[in-house]
Amino acid sequence: MLTEDELIERFFAPAGSTRADVILGIGDDAAVLAPPADRQIVSTVDTINENIHFPAGLPARFIGHRAMAVNLSDLAAMGAEPAWATLSLSIPDSDEEWLSGFSGGLLELAARFGVALTGGDTVRGPLSICVNLQGFVEPGRQITRAGARPGDAIFITGTTGDAAAGLERLQAHTCSGPLVEKFLTPEPRVEIGRDLVGSASSAIDLSDGLAGDLGKLMKASGTAARLDLDRVPLSESILAAMDRDRARDLALAGGDDYELCFTLPKAKKGLAREIEEKYSVAITCVGEVIAGSGVMLCGEGADAGMPNSWQHFRQMKT
Ligand code: ADP
Ligand code: MG
Repeated sequence: MLTEDELIERFFAPAGSTRADVILGIGDDAAVLAPPADRQIVSTVDTINENIHFPAGLPARFIGHRAMAVNLSDLAAMGAEPAWATLSLSIPDSDEEWLSGFSGGLLELAARFGVALTGGDTVRGPLSICVNLQGFVEPGRQITRAGARPGDAIFITGTTGDAAAGLERLQAHTCSGPLVEKFLTPEPRVEIGRDLVGSASSAIDLSDGLAGDLGKLMKASGTAARLDLDRVPLSESILAAMDRDRARDLALAGGDDYELCFTLPKAKKGLAREIEEKYSVAITCVGEVIAGSGVMLCGEGADAGMPNSWQHFRQMKT
């Protein structure tokens, strides 16, 4: 059995000194960090719990990846550049194979985005992972949920519904394929968020489903959305796995996509195409901001209203 110190030393400390602005990292009572003088700090925290946010028995590497990805996605939605993370880890026992997989998944994604692990806490208890992530933004240049204006176009990155479809497949013991991968290893849209700074009027990352999260974006902006169901992109994989109506329900109501939903004023709409080409990620206009409140559906299937599963998904996540 590893002691707590050995565990930290072996699995987490090596990731602690990967940035020059970490003056004092893992190993002391607290970390000392040197933020750039000309930046403001953007800070976020997210916890993922076994059986609530991921199914029991999920390979540890994917749990590590998700714990970092969900936080990176929050910074992406703010247009921030990720820098430092802390990790609070509650684990039932110190299983070395599990820890190796977990830290591998978490630190690999952290390294890809230049994030240093600056500290944390390790306790015995039910499996629960809490990551706090800090990043930088040019003063006042953060993208918030509050800036959408009537006439702005609404865009999403990639496709939605795939992660929820992947989770269903995992629960039915199908363990591979692009849908399952989308759930296991979501790709936070950090670079896209950075490129939207100065152009997007608002943004949110899609963790709880397009319909609900777009609703949050509109509420924060004091506006309404017209969401065109015919334009909501469905991946080839999801259409191969189920009928179109069910795929559309998941695209609207399924969570865990970690795509970005953002608004661009008409004059800046061209940026969507530029970003699409730069990153080879589909950027799709799915509707328009209008005056009022709420999310109005239009297009084929709009009469059916929001899928019933919406409430169910929301309750499951929070
Ligand atoms: P303390 O009891 O003073 O909080 P700990 O023994 O818990 O100290 O932690 C020692 C060092 O290891 C601290 O720098 C802490 O931030 C770091 N640490 C503990 N757990 C983790 C972890 N899971 N990931 C990264 N750093 C950790
Ligand atoms: Mg201490």
